[in-house]
Amino acid sequence: MVKMPKLGVSACLLGQKVRSNGEAAEFRSLTRSWSHHFEMIGVCPEVGIGMGTPRPTTRLVKKDGKINLLNSETDENFTQQMVEYAQLQSDALIQSGISGFVFKNDSPSCGLERVEVHRDGQLQSRDEAMGVFAMVFTTLNPHLPVIDEARLSDPVQAEHFLARVEFLSLWLEEGRNGWTADKLMQFHNTNKLFLLSRSPSAKRSLGRLIANGFDRGDHPENVALEYMTSAQQSLNVLSKPGPIAHAMERVLGRVSSKLSSRERQETLDVIHEYRRGSLPRSAPLTLLRRLVRRCGMENETHSRFISPTPLRLSLMAKV
Ligand code: SF4
Repeated sequence: MVKMPKLGVSACLLGQKVRSNGEAAEFRSLTRSWSHHFEMIGVCPEVGIGMGTPRPTTRLVKKDGKINLLNSETDENFTQQMVEYAQLQSDALIQSGISGFVFKNDSPSCGLERVEVHRDGQLQSRDEAMGVFAMVFTTLNPHLPVIDEARLSDPVQAEHFLARVEFLSLWLEEGRNGWTADKLMQFHNTNKLFLLSRSPSAKRSLGRLIANGFDRGDHPENVALEYMTSAQQSLNVLSKPGPIAHAMERVLGRVSSKLSSRERQETLDVIHEYRRGSLPRSAPLTLLRRLVRRCGMENETHSRFISPTPLRLSLMAKV
């Protein structure tokens, strides 16, 4: 049986009734569609530190230049408990093999960005921060793709996040029995079309990063982690149609000697229409997949570029 990649998720998004009011905040794409392709591991940091449900709400308060997580009613300070819990939970999630995390937005614990910060009991509208759990988790794991539910509602952002998750999941699988220079170079080569389509400059710099790391005699596990951290930082910018269309043309170039000139031109026209925004990405990708298969030139590099997970979730038709 094929193992599904794992995703950490703020538990309330999975329909668990863990919010302060005893309710859930189910995100239906996750529970009804994504759950067929990922194993979801729900985490509620506030329940995790023993706050219970229902409970008073929390808020972020800035005191002496530091952000604190306080009980909104009693001002009990949960910052230290949350930081310690986040460190332990981060380790446990990484050990379990997650390939990404989906956070609830606007939460003083889980929010990834723009969570309101109070000062001296007053709301300072221009003061914003990350939730405490999210801040510790992302600081400890800069190689892990993360997103919040607000961004996940946008198909372009959801597709890009999933492609990053899949990239990390394959890296975890490849490194399961330890990394060597050859293995890492092979992984990079297999993903070069994917990287070229998402971050052309990263494709070049990551090749150099591997070579420099092994020239210095760094431990292969360290080079591999540095590789993924740098790759995910580069991939933290949304892909544009131009580089993706360019990668499609490369795939077409590899099979074009086996195509009639009419087939070649028609495919180029479809890629061009995608680049112009008149057709969704699924149109040229479907065409290319069929041509590559017919020409007997299917390989891992092509299938990595085509990113099967977003295809299965119909996201390519929306981007
Ligand atoms: S946002 Fe985070 S802390 Fe709040 S209920 Fe959801 S999982 Fe728990």
